[in-house]
Amino acid sequence: MLRKKGLKTNDKHIKKLAAIVGPKEILFHKEDLISYESDGFTIHSHMPKAVVFPKNTEEVAEVVKYCADNDLSFLARGAGTGLSGGAIPLNGEVIISLVKMKRLLSVDLENRRAVVEPGYVNLKLTNSISDKGYYYAPDPSSQYCCTIGGNVAENAGGAHCLKYGVTTNHILGLEVVSPTGEIMEIGHDGIPDAPGYDLLGILTGSEGTLGIVTKITVRILKNPEEKQTVLAYFDDVADGSQAVSDIVSAGIVPAALEMMDKIAIEGVESAAFPVGHPKDIEALLLIEVDGISAGIDEQINEILDVCKKRNVRSVKVAQDDDERANWWANRKTGFGAMGAISPDYLVQDGVIPRSTLPEVLKRIGDISKESGLRIANIFHAGDGNLHPLILFDSRIPGQTDKALEAGSACLQACADAGGSITGEHGVGIEKREEMRFVFSDKEIEAQTDIREVFNPHYLLNAGKLFPSPGRCAEVKNELKAEAAE
Ligand SMILES: Cc1cc2nc3c(=O)[nH]c(=O)nc-3n(C[C@H](O)[C@H](O)[C@H](O)COP(=O)(O)OP(=O)(O)OC[C@H]3O[C@@H](n4cnc5c(N)ncnc54)[C@H](O)[C@@H]3O)c2cc1C
Repeated sequence: MLRKKGLKTNDKHIKKLAAIVGPKEILFHKEDLISYESDGFTIHSHMPKAVVFPKNTEEVAEVVKYCADNDLSFLARGAGTGLSGGAIPLNGEVIISLVKMKRLLSVDLENRRAVVEPGYVNLKLTNSISDKGYYYAPDPSSQYCCTIGGNVAENAGGAHCLKYGVTTNHILGLEVVSPTGEIMEIGHDGIPDAPGYDLLGILTGSEGTLGIVTKITVRILKNPEEKQTVLAYFDDVADGSQAVSDIVSAGIVPAALEMMDKIAIEGVESAAFPVGHPKDIEALLLIEVDGISAGIDEQINEILDVCKKRNVRSVKVAQDDDERANWWANRKTGFGAMGAISPDYLVQDGVIPRSTLPEVLKRIGDISKESGLRIANIFHAGDGNLHPLILFDSRIPGQTDKALEAGSACLQACADAGGSITGEHGVGIEKREEMRFVFSDKEIEAQTDIREVFNPHYLLNAGKLFPSPGRCAEVKNELKAEAAE
């Protein structure tokens, strides 16, 4: 289609960008750009100027340098599954899509590491090394399509991050193109206590505002000797939440400890992977323990005891890998499954201290009543990472705003409980103002000062992560005023 339309344009920037990446690796016709107007946060959309598909780091650097020299806003995009609007081209950006940089470059089993390009899809890594007995731990539910570059930018989590840590705990080194087009190597391939500032820590989770990641060295883990999975049904959400606290207080660190409430169960049982969960229960827990075989049975028995003490209606242990895989497939379709029971939904992503789970879930129930919108809860209960899913119908005037208000109120409840406004989905454009729930003006300014060092002209992914207009916007206006003088 691209070739048929050709490169007929008078826009000198499009011509130059096409010369850098090749005429087949750029989109700029309006109808081709529509699917790049938004990401997983579909409430907002903006038209990009163009989308380019570089094939290597040098092309990324050349595109960035061209944009920086010509005052063109730009941003990186992986699979576009982000849920906070990080890849939305708010300023009509040139989108630098990394999906063609999708190779597994090397696997070093001896040193337990692998090197991937940023467009490499998360699940492919585990699939490529599982026959050798290894896996890559961070497992966002979107892992079948999201990219490891996007995971680094968002510091993605997942069901199995309770025991093994989120993306930042598995990144050993990065190659990054700076917002002015220089190629930098960051991190020391896992050398402990490397000298200098922890730039790897700053880059990971910076939501594509400090640089474009072009190569990633990740830690890979040996498959556990054994794993067992428990499914527990509760008639009372408070009992289920209390069981979560009890399990962790008993000294057990499950690999995963997930919870779904009644509305969420209605959703997953109406969607692609029903497994026969009863629809009249109030909550279910999916609990996985793994490690060396010795001791696993004891942990499972202890978990069963805790559930019984907390009035579980029924509890069972997966009989084989197929049953376990079905339970996980059902859980991992959770967000998308909301589409089966509601025209629209907004996913929220707060974090709370585990012990406050019952009170915060109650507050979310109250927010649902106050807003008149149903709210489902699917979440990583073990690490207190809540995902209230606010169901609404954007065709009804006012409902989108109501959903956004309810989402913000859920985040306020998390902050009030001593938690935070994002556990894994990032701030993007969605939660910029909510940053004020957890940071003072001074603390926000300290962070925007860091962004200014990396991103001095504020052309890379502007308008994301911090409240608007924010210090960088002011600096950019000052620079523009100076240039005009
Ligand atoms: C159904 C569903 C389930 C999900 N479940 C989870 C979950 O369990 N855990 C979780 O953490 N998230 C989850 N997410 C959110 C999302 O999948 C993650 O945030 C993921 O890391 C985004 O990856 P992506 O490749 O889609 O990035 P994109 O959406 O394309 O981009 C996200 C951000 O990263 C930046 N970016 C992308 N690539 C690069 C790069 N190479 N260099 C610099 N910046 C870059 C973009 O500019 C943007 O700001 C889910 C999303 C969906 C739709």
